[in-house]
Amino acid sequence: MIKRLIFLGPPGAGKGTQAKVLAAKWDIPHISTGDILRQATRDKTPLGQKAEGFMARGELVPDDLILDMIRERLQEEDAQKGWILDGFPRNVHQAEFLEELLAELHQKADYAISLEAPDDVLVERLTHRGRTDDAEETVRRRLQVYQEQTAPVKAFYQEHDRLKVINGDRPPEAVTIAIAETIA
Ligand code: AMP
Repeated sequence: MIKRLIFLGPPGAGKGTQAKVLAAKWDIPHISTGDILRQATRDKTPLGQKAEGFMARGELVPDDLILDMIRERLQEEDAQKGWILDGFPRNVHQAEFLEELLAELHQKADYAISLEAPDDVLVERLTHRGRTDDAEETVRRRLQVYQEQTAPVKAFYQEHDRLKVINGDRPPEAVTIAIAETIA
């Protein structure tokens, strides 16, 4: 069965780690908008140059930079056999855009998986990760942006009966098993 999954949840909850493991297990692409943006920044592309400042401050990159990127990525060959979206959609407007885009592509997301953990656990994990946007002040801003803009995306999928909340505050192997079980 084709799997199309959206990983939601605050920074530090383990979305990237889980998406990587499960995408490999199911042989589908792990599409991380954060990874794509970081690569664009390293390559100093026009997209990377425009996104860099927002990322460094812990703010969302403007939607007009993100939406074309996702539209193109989901039309690539490898994305026809399924995908895990990690870090997109990040606000309700992006979620609405994704619904329309998928309808156009005759696809549908199966579930939105919200991986969650208490704030003190998130801060502890993030400040030990060493990414440039993991400085304590930026981490606090990213958590705030999550609460304000990304948490409302959960209600969007809840309304469509496609939300699964998973406790991310346990060993990674246990989280992987819980995700696989919840969508089985
Ligand atoms: P992540 O690796 O998902 O934590 O993303 C790192 C940073 O990239 C975020 O703090 C945002 O600045 C930016 N970013 C990633 N995905 C998105 C998105 N869907 N919309 C806007 N900004 C994003």
